[in-house]
Amino acid sequence: MVRLIVDTPGGTYPVHIGSGALKVLKPTLARLDPTGVVIVTDTNVRPWAQAVAKAVKSARLRPLVYTVPASERSKSLTALGNLLAFMERKRIDRGGVVIAVGGGMVGDLAGLAAATWLRGVHLISVPTTLLAMVDSSLGGKTGVNGSRMKNAIGTFWQPSAVVSDVDCLATLPRARYREAFAEVVKYAVAMDRGLFEVLRRDTERLLAQDPSTLEGVIMSCATAKALVVARDERDTGPRAILNYGHTAAHAVEAASSFRISHGRAVAFGMRVAAKISRALDLCSDRLVEQQDEMLAAYGLPDESPRVDVDRVLAVIPTDKKARRGRVAWVLPRRIGFAEVGHEVPPGLVRRVLRKALA
Ligand code: NAD
Repeated sequence: MVRLIVDTPGGTYPVHIGSGALKVLKPTLARLDPTGVVIVTDTNVRPWAQAVAKAVKSARLRPLVYTVPASERSKSLTALGNLLAFMERKRIDRGGVVIAVGGGMVGDLAGLAAATWLRGVHLISVPTTLLAMVDSSLGGKTGVNGSRMKNAIGTFWQPSAVVSDVDCLATLPRARYREAFAEVVKYAVAMDRGLFEVLRRDTERLLAQDPSTLEGVIMSCATAKALVVARDERDTGPRAILNYGHTAAHAVEAASSFRISHGRAVAFGMRVAAKISRALDLCSDRLVEQQDEMLAAYGLPDESPRVDVDRVLAVIPTDKKARRGRVAWVLPRRIGFAEVGHEVPPGLVRRVLRKALA
């Protein structure tokens, strides 16, 4: 097991990563000395939440398990209201602790509940998807979806600890596991050449979910994210590097009414960004090829999503990082290094997207 410390203005906390990491929950909780514990989970992850409840239970502490339907629709204001009403009924006071056991959906919902209940109680994140382990459990973004806009309502609330036990991935559907590699490849291409080499060398082991190889990869991603979040907790500048591939990804997701999986959308978005970078002579052909090969090796082949290119082009200027319709692209320069804040001529974006979606 390995441990990393995330240090942000909003809080400093440990991230425990590895097989059997759940065992640190009891001592972690003992240090917080909670007056009550609510474990938030979804219907698919409930067995893991029950395992967590059993692990932290003591004569003084009887954790409550609160389960929401396993669906992105549970990330809503209504679901948040129901969860907060449950905490009120169960008389969770300011000494209470929320433990999020699940993927990013549960993490975002439970995180917002922890941030808002009595103006904030402790949160412990127990991510159970690879995406949540490498991305959403770190950095303190919490939120629910608006009626039209994803993650429209939320706040920054850093957890008191993150516990990523790779054993939890044993029950994760295979397709979900593979798709998360889009985000892993993102860190490698945008920030970490060493990670890129590991992904190339240890592909088979990683696809077979070898715990120690996986532990190292999650550690690399968490470290990359922690470094960025430490510099820009509130996402006003350098944190935008984490958006590599996400401009075109969000556009195809929105244009397809979210029928395309996030992983496939991010893989597509990184291909588009690399082609734009190449066209501007900011990177080599080799980078485009290497990234392509890497994505394909993790089951993310170069397939055109079936979406209307004009709808995608209409969504791009509404990117959440855009200011007055001007989009700041994150473009790769070489493996392990991308740059934020590139303005790209709209004609070039159109050309690359038309070709990519042909
Ligand atoms: P998710 O939470 O929806 O989980 C995916 C599916 O896997 C669900 O059906 C879930 O029930 C199931 N599942 C989770 N763990 C499992 C396990 N161990 N065994 C069996 N089934 C399991 O999806 P996700 O991909 O983890 O996260 C996506 C969400 O995260 C989105 O809502 C997205 O907006 C959010 N997100 C947040 C941040 C952030 O910084 N806060 C970053 C990226 C994404």
